[in-house]
Amino acid sequence: MIIHKKTAVVTGGAGFLGSHLCDRLINEGMKIICIDNLLTGDLRNISHLFGNKDFTFLHHDVTNFIHVAGEVDYILHFASPASPIDYLKLPIQTLKVGSLGTHKALGLAKEKDARFLLASTSEVYGDPAIHPQTEEYWGNVNPVGPRGVYDEAKRFGESITMAYHRFHGLETRIVRIFNTYGPRMRLDDGRALPAFVSQALKGEDITVFGDGSQTRSFCFVEDEIDGIYRLLLSDTTTPVNIGNPAEITIREFAEEVIKITGSSSKIINTELPEDDPKIRQPDISKAKELLGWEPKVERSEGLKITIDYFKSILDR
Ligand code: UDP
Repeated sequence: MIIHKKTAVVTGGAGFLGSHLCDRLINEGMKIICIDNLLTGDLRNISHLFGNKDFTFLHHDVTNFIHVAGEVDYILHFASPASPIDYLKLPIQTLKVGSLGTHKALGLAKEKDARFLLASTSEVYGDPAIHPQTEEYWGNVNPVGPRGVYDEAKRFGESITMAYHRFHGLETRIVRIFNTYGPRMRLDDGRALPAFVSQALKGEDITVFGDGSQTRSFCFVEDEIDGIYRLLLSDTTTPVNIGNPAEITIREFAEEVIKITGSSSKIINTELPEDDPKIRQPDISKAKELLGWEPKVERSEGLKITIDYFKSILDR
């Protein structure tokens, strides 16, 4: 009996989340077409897949027309700069991949009659006025602030995804991804976790922005990918938060990193970036109810795995 393998296109497949998604989908028995322009992605994240006959890599910028031969069952649109430092450095590319790129990826999904999943973000809630954030909350975003290029691009992405769903009857899914960490994060992406870990490992001062009272809720990558995979296979077309509700202040988080690494680094307080959200915690009731999903990996465990990864990168 010939088993027909499903084919999934992953845009941004050489990135942090995209590459873990490629791994998971291959393990689930799918063929993968990974598309990336390597602006913030890295071939080292997918080099282990190059010998796999079910894996194809296309070096392409998805803001331009996307050609893919043959049948496609799923399109997962993960291409975008995604750390505050990256999208501040690449504001136009961030706006283009969230708007033109999402449009091209949706066009491909329509052409192939494929199911489309958009990687959206907790940033659609901006600096939230409700806590924790439920999917019903419409957000508090400054469109003309520095983070607006990412937040508004993702909000547009959600909007055009719903338009393709309503107008063209396309099967669509939207995941709102909260702060996620794990192996293959870039050490230099400017996010709190890689910054704190590399500073701690090098014995440098730990730069906590502002007084560190702002909160985040960090999800280990394996949990995040599991939630996304379940959403892909579900019949839920409205947005779903996937993140770990374990909330912590950034100052406490810096102290935790110092403790786990056994570092002698000291915390210093530097300027708080403009529009930095003061609080962030996902309400995951919807994911629990509709997907039977909740995170399993404790921060202490996930941090150890991630710190070991960063150690191996620094040793290279
Ligand atoms: N942050 C910090 N020091 C750093 C990098 C980030 O204190 O070196 C803070 C940042 O201002 C934010 C939080 O840590 O309040 C999480 O930042 P990150 O860049 O990881 O992601 P965000 O949730 O802001 O997108």
